[in-house]
Amino acid sequence: MERYESLVIGLGAMGAATVYQLAKAGVKVAGIDRHHPPHTFGSSHGDTRITRLSVGEGAQYVPIVRNSHRIWRELEAASGEALFEQSGLLVLTSRDDFDPSDESDFTLRTIGLANTYGIEHEVLDAAQIRQRFAQFAHVADSAIGYYEPGGGFVRPERCIEVQLRLAEQHGATLYKGETVTAIRADEHGVTVTTDQRTLQADKLVVSAGNWAGGLLGAPFDQLLKVYRQQLFWFELEPGADLVGKSPTYILTHGQGEGNTNYGFPALPGEGTLKIATAQYHTASTPETLDRTVSAAEEQAMYAQQVRGRIAGVTSKVVKSAVCAYTVTPDHHFIIDQHPTLQHTLVVSPCSGHGFKHSAALGEAFAQWCIRGSSDLDLSAFSLKRFAGQALAPQ
Ligand SMILES: Cc1cc2nc3c(=O)[nH]c(=O)nc-3n(C[C@H](O)[C@H](O)[C@H](O)COP(=O)(O)OP(=O)(O)OC[C@H]3O[C@@H](n4cnc5c(N)ncnc54)[C@H](O)[C@@H]3O)c2cc1C
Repeated sequence: MERYESLVIGLGAMGAATVYQLAKAGVKVAGIDRHHPPHTFGSSHGDTRITRLSVGEGAQYVPIVRNSHRIWRELEAASGEALFEQSGLLVLTSRDDFDPSDESDFTLRTIGLANTYGIEHEVLDAAQIRQRFAQFAHVADSAIGYYEPGGGFVRPERCIEVQLRLAEQHGATLYKGETVTAIRADEHGVTVTTDQRTLQADKLVVSAGNWAGGLLGAPFDQLLKVYRQQLFWFELEPGADLVGKSPTYILTHGQGEGNTNYGFPALPGEGTLKIATAQYHTASTPETLDRTVSAAEEQAMYAQQVRGRIAGVTSKVVKSAVCAYTVTPDHHFIIDQHPTLQHTLVVSPCSGHGFKHSAALGEAFAQWCIRGSSDLDLSAFSLKRFAGQALAPQ
């Protein structure tokens, strides 16, 4: 039986970062993935992911994303690949009923955090938004914008590919196309069984994304829900002058679910703008997920999110994709030791906003494997916040 110091189950965003950091630190590590990452079956595909220092989801995320921005640059230097583009990031609210004292508004929360943490930014009114960003020519007169020049996007597939490649160069063993079927643990370590072999280790990190609930059982099968999401690349209008002039953005245009969309810059040579929204009303599973986008869904996306809101794009969808979030009850991450499996760290940093943090979290998880704690304070993500909560059956 092969024995390692550390094992990592799942080599997507989180697992690739973890296995890379462990191998770089000289740890004898193996990673296992049921697919061949980067792939299109989990949460980490679709060309681009937003990153921003003022993380409106909460102050607990700011130190994490700062570390990630440092590590993306280190990875670029080590690999020669472009991973992180500081295209500028615009968070804006444009709604006729906008209340400037509404503390739940995402743009206002983002501005508040940037002020608290000294993050470079500008606050823009409607006239400034229209003048600087032609794609938002239609914003309401009450619109407000937060512009972070250091924000932008990362390229998820390339980040994963680079970290796995560098991990192997540092001596990691990667088992791809191999599915973990059982995990056991006792005082001597963990034993992981796959459909092809059995492995032992001192420490285990489980970063199985959409599959984590099914693999781990209680309480994770109750806490983690999988939600299908769609990504759309809309064709630019002829003559639309958006390349080099469109930011990465998050637009709130009403209250509640379905009234926010986000998108990415028009990239040279592509002729498209990638636009998406999020849904949390219909849960799914990795096994039953419908992985195709229908023509009706494309039309609904244009009608509800694009028409009259984003200038310079046509209704033609050039490309689309389905990707899935793994979501916790409060939409914050779960990062904690398994309640019964010794030596095992369970990480579910998704809920639709995890990629920007993945490089730093991988470093923190590697530290946990090596010395049982991390430089980053990850206590906000512990399981105990759900203790005693009645959870709906799946
Ligand atoms: C549509 C969409 C848009 C998003 N946009 C953003 C964004 O703009 N900014 C941002 O920061 N975040 C964003 N996110 C969130 C971010 O992409 C996720 O937080 C991140 O990708 C989660 O990574 P992961 O490693 O947990 O999961 P994954 O990358 O899916 O990795 C899990 C891996 O585990 C493997 N696996 C599962 N079970 C087993 C098993 N039994 N044996 C072996 N291997 C197994 C799978 O094959 C997979 O490779 C978005 C997510 C989606 C879906």
